[in-house]
Amino acid sequence: MDSVDVLIVGAGVSGIGAAYYLQRDHPGRSYAILEARGASGGTWDLFRFPGVRSDSDLHTFGYEFRPWRSDTAIADGDSILAYLRETAAEYGIDQRIRYRTKAVAADWSDQDARWTVTTQDAGTGEQATVTCRWLFCAAGYYRYDGGFTPHFEGRARFAGPVVHPQQWPADLDYAGKRVVIIGSGATAVTLVPAMAPTAAHVTMLQRTPSYVLPVPTRDKLNARLTALLGDERGYAVTRRLNIARQIGLWRFCQRYPNAARKLIRNLNAKMLPEGYPVDEHFNPPYNPWDQRMCIVPDGDLFRAIRRGRASVVTGLIETFTEGGVQLRDGRTLEADIIVTATGLNVQPLGGLALTVNGAPVSAHDTFVYKGMMLSGVPNFAFVFGYTNASWTLKVGLLCEHFTRLLTRMDAGGYAVARPVADPAMPARPFTDFGSGYIQRALGQLPRQGSRAPWRISRTYGGDVRLLRRRPVDDRELRLEPARETVPS
Ligand SMILES: Cc1cc2nc3c(=O)[nH]c(=O)nc-3n(C[C@H](O)[C@H](O)[C@H](O)COP(=O)(O)OP(=O)(O)OC[C@H]3O[C@@H](n4cnc5c(N)ncnc54)[C@H](O)[C@@H]3O)c2cc1C
Repeated sequence: MDSVDVLIVGAGVSGIGAAYYLQRDHPGRSYAILEARGASGGTWDLFRFPGVRSDSDLHTFGYEFRPWRSDTAIADGDSILAYLRETAAEYGIDQRIRYRTKAVAADWSDQDARWTVTTQDAGTGEQATVTCRWLFCAAGYYRYDGGFTPHFEGRARFAGPVVHPQQWPADLDYAGKRVVIIGSGATAVTLVPAMAPTAAHVTMLQRTPSYVLPVPTRDKLNARLTALLGDERGYAVTRRLNIARQIGLWRFCQRYPNAARKLIRNLNAKMLPEGYPVDEHFNPPYNPWDQRMCIVPDGDLFRAIRRGRASVVTGLIETFTEGGVQLRDGRTLEADIIVTATGLNVQPLGGLALTVNGAPVSAHDTFVYKGMMLSGVPNFAFVFGYTNASWTLKVGLLCEHFTRLLTRMDAGGYAVARPVADPAMPARPFTDFGSGYIQRALGQLPRQGSRAPWRISRTYGGDVRLLRRRPVDDRELRLEPARETVPS
């Protein structure tokens, strides 16, 4: 039977990063990456809507070990994809990816101290198995087969196309068309300025406003630092500065929400036309960073509004009509195309059906250990990055911690690492992050405990201490030698 030491699920930014750390720290270990799709890159290969880009700066979203060699901090999807694929090629990681191979189930055996993973060929549906000592799930956090669209009354009546950004038709012609984009998240605020110059008009129709923060596309300080220090050191310094800035901004928002709200409002008002109803469209009912903040590079959204190419409408949808959308307050929006930028369907752990010695694991009944393992599930690690900073900052720390754990196990002659939680420990939701897509999924996600190491840290500094500096094992992670197997 096909067998490797570590089986990584997912060849997105996280899976490629995990492979790098694994082969750097444990070059003798065999590994493979299973990728359900026919291409690597995950999110950055899947999403093809106009203007698709990061909303983090690439100096913190990029890998710590490989500089992002551009002073364009907010980068387009194609550049990010190229960076990921170049990284995979440079380190020979691309040779380890098994494409069109979806992991569908995994059973851990205490007897064999191994996982048996059932895979499915994405084309033929044919199933096969592969065994591994460790299963490392880097499968992202959402379903790839379709985005989230709430029920809209009268949807079938609308005469034009209704498009979800996750399945953007390559041939969608919106030149000279009236477009209504439903949503107020990162995708909506990206789409509006990207479509505005070509469309007749773009309307962003939102139920609730989001915080929208203008940021410079180019990082001038990075340009100066790399000119002075070279690519590698310039990148390292920029990265550190940007991490500190992100933490500072997040802390400021948490500590002084009213001041942060005022500051963002003033920035918005300055970039919007005179007399614009800023509070109606850009003043959310929640505090800054209670949900992910939207960023707009060089204020492009505000520019599109100023030029009259785009507008924002805040209101509730009553029904789609043949020619657009009717709101509950009686207003109507005429549209040739409707875009439902209404979010993702969260899918934890790549949809894998996990069993331990044949017994099904319900993720929601487990506690998260150090943000990367599940109570009662041996030799299983997963990554879930930050939602209040670059996702990848956390993923990098988790990958490093994982390889440290392997080193510790090698040194002690251990084969199995099993987090064991006190079942009576009070449980908390996986996250208190308020975004709708996370809140909808809390019932499928594992839970946090009431104390370390069962709490999930949301701060980079806290994670550096926990994952990089502190010892890898503690009394709640049971390390066990392999069982003696009796020859048959
Ligand atoms: C449009 C968009 C923009 C974003 N911008 C940012 C940003 O600027 N900053 C930020 O921090 N975050 C951003 N995010 C969140 C983003 O998804 C993550 O930051 C990051 O790309 C996730 O990488 P990942 O490798 O963990 O997961 P993904 O990119 O989702 O990759 C997971 C991979 O695993 C594969 N997979 C899943 N299940 C299985 C299975 N069972 N078997 C085999 N393979 C499987 C998938 O096919 C995919 O290739 C953005 C998200 C979107 C949708």
